[in-house]
Amino acid sequence: MNIGLVAHDSKKELMVNFCIAYKNILSKHDLFATGTTGQQIEDNVSLNVYKFIPGYLGGDSQMAAQIECNQMDALIFLRDPLTPSARDVGYEMLTQLCDANNIPVATNLASAELLILAIDRGDLDWRNLYK
Ligand code: PGA
Repeated sequence: MNIGLVAHDSKKELMVNFCIAYKNILSKHDLFATGTTGQQIEDNVSLNVYKFIPGYLGGDSQMAAQIECNQMDALIFLRDPLTPSARDVGYEMLTQLCDANNIPVATNLASAELLILAIDRGDLDWRNLYK
């Protein structure tokens, strides 16, 4: 499965800890992340991550393009809803595209844990047929 990983700045440490906790599952999949999120994962967890450019340079658009082209099987987007940002429109686009393309998306730690465990159980294997 191709799994997208994005974390707002205040959630990057949480993303790293999530990746440490679920490294054994994540290592079986192809991981894609916006630049800074991906760099922090690689710096702290021995996982290979394909890094898009940083979000503020358009990494969110690169991730969006992958979703639009049905290349992403799931998105874990740890967002901070309490800190508005000028880039919120770009990030809103990510979840809208997931909804439009029926791609599972988790936007907080609790749903991220459900999603990664579901992936490990094979609940999303239908995506291989769909693609
Ligand atoms: P980043 O992008 O991983 O490059 O920081 C996400 C964000 O802009 O919050």
